[in-house]
Amino acid sequence: MKKLLLLSVLIALLSCGSNNVSTFATEETATKYANTITPLDLKKHLYIFASAEFEGRKTGEPGQKKAAEYLKNFYIQHNIVSPYGGNDYYQTIPTEHLLPGLNPSENVVAYIEGSEKPEEIIVISAHYDHLGMNNDKIYFGADDDGSGNVAILEIAEAFQKAVNDGNGPKRSMLFLHVTGEEKGLLGSKYYTNFPIFPLENTVTNLNMDMIGRVDDKHINNPNFVYLIGSDKLSTELHELSEEINDKFTQLDLDYSYNNEDDPNRYYYRSDHYNFAKNNIPIIFYFNGTHEDYHKTSDTPDKINYEVLAKRAKLSFLYCLGSSQ
Ligand SMILES: [Zn+2]
Repeated sequence: MKKLLLLSVLIALLSCGSNNVSTFATEETATKYANTITPLDLKKHLYIFASAEFEGRKTGEPGQKKAAEYLKNFYIQHNIVSPYGGNDYYQTIPTEHLLPGLNPSENVVAYIEGSEKPEEIIVISAHYDHLGMNNDKIYFGADDDGSGNVAILEIAEAFQKAVNDGNGPKRSMLFLHVTGEEKGLLGSKYYTNFPIFPLENTVTNLNMDMIGRVDDKHINNPNFVYLIGSDKLSTELHELSEEINDKFTQLDLDYSYNNEDDPNRYYYRSDHYNFAKNNIPIIFYFNGTHEDYHKTSDTPDKINYEVLAKRAKLSFLYCLGSSQ
């Protein structure tokens, strides 16, 4: 009931077109912060994150460690704190929680404390590991899931700007870059088994895994995203997601893969599922499959940065709206 009330307050604020810029929930302020998420910034990060330097970011390998360092340095530079405090942005996963033969690995975490309900947490996640290298060939993983990681960086930066202006979210945000996804959702499994914040207080998980491309079905309408899971555990989540998109981003929300009968079963195949199985409502944002999926040709030049920015904005604005 509480969420429904919050939803109607947000909609009332949006629909009256208030020009009270000190209220985070107004259309004007929401747009202002969302617009700091730009195609150019996403591109700049992704050309580094999915470069040869990171060697395909294989779990436990030097390339993954470099990617973790890149994420951590971004948060330090932007004064976005760690939930652990200090410069410790890693949730280290001991080898016994990984597969045999893997080196220890780490989730990367950053945090913005809510102003009024800091104990309530929204987790925004993406996996930053990928397939590594095969002989001399690098699996760059630009879409899978470099796209989700750079989106989180930009979302976190937008939130921090809002905080700096005194317009921060009322609920807390945890930015969670998980490792070990390609090995079996291991990083998100570890997080939900050993959560930094109690799962009872974790109100939503938004997971982005492959959000930078346009699949064949939408070749003539790239302004889309597949949403999976939004209505499974919470109708409020689904309704607010729709409202926010209608108001701000106007993406074509494609629910084809949300069907229980869909043979791909994507609802069960990325990190959000570890939250969903703990009864936490989730939204999985996804661009569908393409010919470069899990190939060395998944490179940053093939990303549609305009639509990546829109999808990141949708996720940011959802957090903003649901946090009021
Ligand atoms: Zn992935």
